[in-house]
Amino acid sequence: MRVLGLTGGIGSGKSTAAAVLAGMGVPVVDADQVARRLQQRGAPGWRRVRELFGWPVLRADGELDRPRLARWIFTDPQQRARLDAALHPLIGAAIREDLQELEAHGADTAVLVAPLLFESGLDRLCRQVWVVEAPFALILERLRARGLAEADARARMAAQMAPAERRRRAQLVIPNGGSREELAARVQAAWQRFQEDAR
Ligand code: ADP
Repeated sequence: MRVLGLTGGIGSGKSTAAAVLAGMGVPVVDADQVARRLQQRGAPGWRRVRELFGWPVLRADGELDRPRLARWIFTDPQQRARLDAALHPLIGAAIREDLQELEAHGADTAVLVAPLLFESGLDRLCRQVWVVEAPFALILERLRARGLAEADARARMAAQMAPAERRRRAQLVIPNGGSREELAARVQAAWQRFQEDAR
């Protein structure tokens, strides 16, 4: 099975790009969704986080207090490194399982969308990696519209791989500085080329 990796910084538009492909019937594995699944109450990631950080990261109903945890780790690089080291192997294994399952069901291509595709080494599973990019100010504006405070957005961006490094390692850059329609058109055209390359 050919896996197409889709990455980009927070708010760059990679989920929106992935949704375009999903709308065309392409199976998508979303690393953030996998991570969330693994951190639901009682799941292996939830147990690891609880072991690491204790009860303060749990809400009254036993679920992880994700906004609190996010604020904590994005302002403290050491805590973030501990959490990453604990969770990334679990997330990586679950993603591989999801991809294998798609393949077992006959999929010949799949998309893997992951903010930390390169950092986690998951790019090695991918035939090609596309990076979605948007201007910094526009990302802040879009994230603000989604309800994320500017300080939180900046902290998350600072914790991620530099855009130039991501660009250097990707096979294709998809600019997302325009409308959603423009993004959709770019993604569709790139997908067509990707499919033609396989023939
Ligand atoms: P990511 O998955 O990279 O964090 P998203 O795809 O969630 O980014 O996009 C971030 C926010 O910006 C979302 O609210 C999304 O709906 C919005 N968005 C993405 N692309 C565009 C665009 N071209 N025009 C307007 N809003 C956009």
